[in-house]
Amino acid sequence: MKKHMAVIVGASHAAAQLSTSLRQEGWGGDIMMIGDESYLPYHRPPLSKTFLSGDKSVDELLIRPAAFYAKNDIQFRQGCVTAIDRKRQTLLLSDGDELSYDKLALCLGARVRKISIPGHELSGVHYLRDMADAEGIKNQVGKAKHAVIIGGGYIGLETAAALRRQGIAVVVLEMAERILQRVTAPELSEFYTRIHAEEGVTIHTGVSIKAIEGSTHVERVSCANGLIFKADLVIVGVGVIPNVELADAAGIVVDNGIVVDFYCRTNDTNIVAAGDCTNHLNIHYNRRIRLESVANASEQAKVAAASLCGLSKKYETLPWFWSDQYDLKLQIAGLSHGYNQVIIRGNIHTGRSFAAFYFHNGQLIAADCVNRPQEFMLSKKIIAEKIAVNPTELADESIPVKEFL
Ligand SMILES: Cc1cc2nc3c(=O)[nH]c(=O)nc-3n(C[C@H](O)[C@H](O)[C@H](O)COP(=O)(O)OP(=O)(O)OC[C@H]3O[C@@H](n4cnc5c(N)ncnc54)[C@H](O)[C@@H]3O)c2cc1C
Repeated sequence: MKKHMAVIVGASHAAAQLSTSLRQEGWGGDIMMIGDESYLPYHRPPLSKTFLSGDKSVDELLIRPAAFYAKNDIQFRQGCVTAIDRKRQTLLLSDGDELSYDKLALCLGARVRKISIPGHELSGVHYLRDMADAEGIKNQVGKAKHAVIIGGGYIGLETAAALRRQGIAVVVLEMAERILQRVTAPELSEFYTRIHAEEGVTIHTGVSIKAIEGSTHVERVSCANGLIFKADLVIVGVGVIPNVELADAAGIVVDNGIVVDFYCRTNDTNIVAAGDCTNHLNIHYNRRIRLESVANASEQAKVAAASLCGLSKKYETLPWFWSDQYDLKLQIAGLSHGYNQVIIRGNIHTGRSFAAFYFHNGQLIAADCVNRPQEFMLSKKIIAEKIAVNPTELADESIPVKEFL
C-alpha cells in the first residue's frame, strides 16, 4: 500500500520541530522537508551573536544532525517550491519537478526587508538572515575597520556587539527617535544606548540615510543631516517580511502572515503553517499577531504536527524571546504593546542586571529581564496565569522573587 506523504516546505526552526513532532505524534507515512538553502535546519540566532565573532562551522549550528533525520526516516530535499495546486495536492518545484502531498506544512519563514537608497548595491553592504549572509559578513570581518549598522533593532544591536568584540569601530544609525522603539520602553532604549556607549559603539538616532558611497566597495555612509561615517562594512537590519506569496497564490488566506487558527490550520484542511510566516489569534492577548521567534516557530510546529496527525493540541504558549549582547542576556516574557506603566526592579541606570515589568491597567503583560533568569521565569507564570501582583512590591528588591509565587 502506498504510504501517505507529509511535505514540509521550508527547512529551518519550524520545519525541524514539525518533522520531529510528526514522528512523535505517530505519523507513519513519508516525511519530506524541502528547503531552498543548502543546509539541514540550523540555529539562526547565533548568526548575529557567537557565529560572527567565533569559529563555529555550519555543522555545529545544525538543530539536529543528519543522522537524526535518517534514523527517523525524514527526507530532506534542497529546492524551491514555486506553486501549490491544492486541488491536485501537488507542489511545483523551480527545477520543474512535481511532487504529491497528502498533508502539507508551510514553514516559509521571513526574508529581510531591503533598502533602496543610492549605493545599496555596493560590495561590502550586507543583510543578515541566513548562513550565506553570515558567511559573507564573516569573510569581511578580518579586514574591516569601520562598520556602520543601519537599524537599531535587536539584530542590528547584536551584530554591533559581535563586531565590536572583533575590535571593529561600530556606528549604529537608527531612523526612529530611539533604538528598540518598536519593542521596548524608553528606559530599555536608554539602557542599551548606555551599554553600547560603554563598549565603544556610537549610536545616532533620528537619522535618515542619504546614500551609501564608494567606487565599487563601500567607503562611507552619508546622512540627510550632513553627518558622514567612514565604513568598509555596512550591515542593514531593518526588519523582515513574511514569505506568504506561495500561500497567497494558492488561495490560502493571508493577512500579514498566513492566517492560522488555534491549531495552526489554514483555511485548507490538509495544510498547516508554523513559524515566522504565520499570523495567529493569540490567546493571551486576544489579538492577531505575527511573531518572529524561535520559541513561536517550535511551539507552533508541535501544534501543527498534531493537527496533521488528526489530533487537537491548542497553541497556548506565552510569547517569549531573548537577545544576547556582550555579557547581557535579555529574556523577554510576553508582549509589552499597550502597556501604561513600567516598573523597574534593580539598577537600570548604572548596573547590568534588572527587570522591567510592563503593566496594563494593573495587570502584568510583559517583562524585559536583563541577566535576571528568576524574574523571567516568574514573569512568564504571572502573565500566563494572570496572577495579581503589586507593582510596588515587585520593584522592591528586598522581597525575594520566590515570595511572589
Ligand atoms: C540573525 C538572527 C538572529 C536571531 N536571533 C533570535 C533570537 O535571539 N531569539 C529568537 O527567538 N529569535 C531570533 N531570530 C529569529 C528566528 O531565527 C526566527 O524566528 C526563526 O528562524 C523562524 O523560523 P521559521 O522556521 O519560521 O522560519 P525561517 O527561519 O525564516 O526559515 C524559513 C525557511 O524556508 C525557506 N523557504 C521559504 N520559502 C521557500 C520555498 N518556497 N521553498 C523552499 N524553501 C523556502 C527559507 O529560505 C528558510 O530557509 C533571529 C533571526 C536572525 C536572522
